[in-house]
Amino acid sequence: MTSKKVAIIGGGAAGIFCAIQCALLDSHCQVHVFEKTMQPLSKVRISGGGRCNVTHHCFDPKRLSQNYPRGENILKKLFYHFHPEQLMEWFAERGVELKVEVDGRVFPVSNSSQTIISCFLEQAEKLGVKIHLGTEILDMVKGSDGIFTLSLKNGENLCFSHVVMATGGVAKAYSLIQRLGHKMVEPLPSLFTFQIHSPILADLSGISLPVKLHVASVGEEEGPMLITHVGVSGPAVLRMSAWGARILAEVDYQFPLTVNWVPGLQEMQLREALLKEKSLSSTKTIVSTALFSIPKNLWKKLVLAAGMDIELLWAQLSHKQIHQLIQTLQRTIFQVKGKSPFKEEFVTAGGVPWKEIDYKTMQSKLVPHLYFAGEVVNSDGITGGFNFQHAWTTAWVAAHAIGKDNTF
Ligand SMILES: Cc1cc2nc3c(=O)[nH]c(=O)nc-3n(C[C@H](O)[C@H](O)[C@H](O)COP(=O)(O)OP(=O)(O)OC[C@H]3O[C@@H](n4cnc5c(N)ncnc54)[C@H](O)[C@@H]3O)c2cc1C
Repeated sequence: MTSKKVAIIGGGAAGIFCAIQCALLDSHCQVHVFEKTMQPLSKVRISGGGRCNVTHHCFDPKRLSQNYPRGENILKKLFYHFHPEQLMEWFAERGVELKVEVDGRVFPVSNSSQTIISCFLEQAEKLGVKIHLGTEILDMVKGSDGIFTLSLKNGENLCFSHVVMATGGVAKAYSLIQRLGHKMVEPLPSLFTFQIHSPILADLSGISLPVKLHVASVGEEEGPMLITHVGVSGPAVLRMSAWGARILAEVDYQFPLTVNWVPGLQEMQLREALLKEKSLSSTKTIVSTALFSIPKNLWKKLVLAAGMDIELLWAQLSHKQIHQLIQTLQRTIFQVKGKSPFKEEFVTAGGVPWKEIDYKTMQSKLVPHLYFAGEVVNSDGITGGFNFQHAWTTAWVAAHAIGKDNTF
């Protein structure tokens, strides 16, 4: 082999970005991407509700890394090399306009993930990256000459000097990596929704409101929560699921969830507001007068859950009932009975352990010239564009290490 020949297994965000970087850094380098499905970048297409939340507007590596329940310390170091500012510049140089939303999430101005996909595929084509679709890699061996032989599903065998595993959270691909000696951290879902069957939530699907959540041994999360027909979802729930991915798996996703429906208000402020309403609306029923920006239907359910009669008037509200209502508003406890169905979660926790990777190069410590990028590595982020940034950064580091390698 006279020049570098790089195989990238997986045509997702990490694989395609890594391929483009490899080709940009060395025009003589032959870069092949193998994607088992017929569609490259399929998760990019469906990401962010079809809008693709490409990254998060946070340029401080330390603060950025705090959004990763697994891998924080190492990612902090990697973000010094390639973080959202560089990614945004990279897109700008290629004519892709991005916008930052109020919560820091970054999307293409077009509001279409197709803009990102088109940019990547055009770049790949321009740089001569060969993308093999419908081509699953079934096995890989490394010869004594240091060359990798990849076995394709169609029976073909191909040789490469460098291999990048960018297979995402697909457990089937884990065995490929294990056969090379790596011990994978068990894959577990992260970013999932909570299943709850409660009369309080029944018929309220579609309501979204700011809450504070608490789960013992995981912690607190504040932000929007969406009531669904099977439980709760939305940013606060997804973040809680990410931080608690392993703890919640251990209890088989059966745990008590405490919801504070009035996150910004102290008990004293709630009491004052309720007493004020008692004097102002004395002849009205409590269920009919929703307070604290709580949607009317939900307010009614909470008042009933606090033990009040549907006909109870504000004038009749006792101090004990005020106390009960405050308790319900601040601490409604739901029993979570499961998570969103398998494969509906957004990201996998687990993968190649960092201790088996040289993080400066994303190269395997066990198999020289084998690299890892993206979700296949044991780190993952909360929602907000952090998972894609993880894919871009690890891919960028792997590509630069390959670019600098002069072995072949
Ligand atoms: C519905 C949804 C929405 C999301 N939205 C966002 C978002 O807005 N922002 C964000 O930051 N993150 C989002 N994510 C997470 C993000 O999509 C992932 O973190 C990211 O796609 C990981 O990229 P990857 O390249 O590592 O893996 P993947 O995108 O999973 O790509 C891996 C590829 O490898 C292929 N492959 C696997 N094994 C083989 C094999 N043996 N041979 C050949 N090919 C193989 C797979 O077919 C796949 O195409 C979302 C995820 C989902 C599911």
